[in-house]
Amino acid sequence: MSQRLDFRGKRWRARYQVGGERIVRTFSTEAEARAWVDLAELRRAAMTFPALLDRLNVTPAGCWEWQGHVTARGYGRLMLDGRKVYAHRVLLALRGTAIPAGYHVHHACRNTRCVNPDHLEILAPVEHRARHRENKNGSSVVHEDGV
Ligand SMILES: [Zn+2]
Ligand SMILES: [Zn+2]
Repeated sequence: MSQRLDFRGKRWRARYQVGGERIVRTFSTEAEARAWVDLAELRRAAMTFPALLDRLNVTPAGCWEWQGHVTARGYGRLMLDGRKVYAHRVLLALRGTAIPAGYHVHHACRNTRCVNPDHLEILAPVEHRARHRENKNGSSVVHEDGV
């Protein structure tokens, strides 16, 4: 696996190679190109982790609850390729969803152990805080700052 970013003709070009497969994509900003490379990297790592599905439990509410390690703040986390990653981010990567740098992942279902991509929203920090203020009956604190 190798990857490379370069800038040519006013466009950012990301090249990503895994196995015999070579993917080239162009983007208008460096941030987009990096988010895409991160996605490709996480997706590749997730595919080498067959135990992932064994660690999910589907609830009547449709949440996919993480059964592996959970952080003190209630988020599923695992080791993938020697680095700690949040389980919900891995599931988003498997679906092909890129998370721009600095963006938050919000659990619309309020179940922090949930990794169902349909229950997750990618929000800018300012939107995320606003979303939690709307939900005043629950916690008004941003519960997943930066995860
Ligand atoms: Zn859920
Ligand atoms: Zn949230």
